Amino acid sequence: MKDIKEIMELLEEAYPEAGCTLRYSDPLQLLIATILAAQCTDARVNLVTPTLFKRYPDCNAFAEADAHELEEYIRSTGFYRNKARNIIECCKRLKDVYKCVVPDNMEDLLTLAGVGRKTANIILGDVYNKPAVVVDTHAKRLSNRIGLSKHKDPTKIEMDLAKILPPDRSARFCHQLVYHGRAVCNARNPKCEICVIKEHCDYYRNLTE
Ligand code: SF4
Repeated sequence: MKDIKEIMELLEEAYPEAGCTLRYSDPLQLLIATILAAQCTDARVNLVTPTLFKRYPDCNAFAEADAHELEEYIRSTGFYRNKARNIIECCKRLKDVYKCVVPDNMEDLLTLAGVGRKTANIILGDVYNKPAVVVDTHAKRLSNRIGLSKHKDPTKIEMDLAKILPPDRSARFCHQLVYHGRAVCNARNPKCEICVIKEHCDYYRNLTE
């Protein structure tokens, strides 16, 4: 078993500022931004959302949106037709079933259009401060390289991480994996020599053996 405590401490030292890099001012905005972030960078989403949230200030506005008009606002995030459809359906259900309150549990969140486990965990961790393991592309790659999970399937990786992380640190740890993935453990060229957790990493051990 990995020394997860030590890895957590090292990442905490390296990335004390780690947190959600999507900009939002209420739970609904984070939900919409997260849907938009699928197959897109947070930086790109952050360019789009200020104008978007001005035009659609609340759940009712999104629920009643014209799909074609909404598509134009989010076009640059990619897959914009699907995303527009999901956002409208999601907000209709939020309005009809949840009185426009973003749910605080996985089961209900997963009933919303466009919301998978990754998005649901972001809401649980960043809005409601609940235990949440967010497995995005960085967390997936780093979990495999370090040796925290051998699985490729994000849900299985989530379960592996949930078993070893203290619940009150899981969301923060995943943010730190993302920061580390962007800064050091890049997909193509991981900078292992300067990596603060290299002593705990299977990928590095294999390189040096
Ligand atoms: S040692 Fe290399 S592969 Fe392992 S986490 Fe660090 S940068 Fe990534």
